[in-house]
Amino acid sequence: MIQNKAPGKDVSASDMEEKFPLASKKNIDHFSKFEVAGVSFGDKLIPVMAGPNMVESEELIVETAISVKKAGAHFLRGGAFKPLSFPYRSEKYTETREDGIKWLGVAKKETGIGIITEVMEEKFLDLICEVTDILQIGSRNMQNYPLIAAAARTKKPLMIKRHFGASLRDWLGAAEYALVEGNQKVILCERGVTVPHTHRDSSRFLLDLQVVPAAKEVTHLPIAVDPSHATFWRPWVKPMSLASVAAGADSIMLEVHPDPENSAVDPLQPIDFTSFSELMISMDRVANITGKKIFDV
Ligand code: PEP
Ligand code: MN
Repeated sequence: MIQNKAPGKDVSASDMEEKFPLASKKNIDHFSKFEVAGVSFGDKLIPVMAGPNMVESEELIVETAISVKKAGAHFLRGGAFKPLSFPYRSEKYTETREDGIKWLGVAKKETGIGIITEVMEEKFLDLICEVTDILQIGSRNMQNYPLIAAAARTKKPLMIKRHFGASLRDWLGAAEYALVEGNQKVILCERGVTVPHTHRDSSRFLLDLQVVPAAKEVTHLPIAVDPSHATFWRPWVKPMSLASVAAGADSIMLEVHPDPENSAVDPLQPIDFTSFSELMISMDRVANITGKKIFDV
């Protein structure tokens, strides 16, 4: 079990009592279960959130919603407000912002699929909440505590992505900022960490699968994994998705695009509709071994 010791980078017993009492497990079998738009998190089902990196157009997001829903996805993902690493934009490489949120609304209306999308600024919370079922706090905002608190106060479920340099201890601290606002629907998402070796120069991160069992020792919150952002490389998405399910992930986020090579953002990582559909079946097989499932029925 967790040892008590001086505060450090890893989680101590006193951290669990004093620093993040709400995020911490109270006993070995303590795992949160809750519903979001009729989909259960933290239970036998492993909800899958799939869609493009960016909500590029109404046509693209509606087409993707139809395809990922047909393949069994539970939520449509896609950013309208994007934390793009550099400030310069072109006609293709640009945020769709208010339009993107509107198009997510169209996709939801036409297919009934739940929505998860990122919020970067508090001033857009009302607009985003009109459409989204889950508010995504991106890895770059994991320590933007006022944003997390404001997002939590909307009462929408939150998914907090782990910053690529953050310890489990810091990640749980971020979750506590949401929980202390009285919002109990908090999901954590591992999306790769910065390390010296990523085995390809285009891969910026390494998927920290070990954090899944490590997190489950100390927190009751559902742990999602995003193998797309972690690997940054399409051929590695399938093996790492299967490994994520095997490692005990409670949810999987995947980038899926109708024409991956022409994705406006991060074209090396999305998978196409056929690969996604096949991956859903493979993930379900692995899930079944662990007593879980990918498909609702
Ligand atoms: C995303 O999911 O679109 C995203 C930007 O992810 P991350 O915050 O993990 O980089
Ligand atoms: Mn991205």
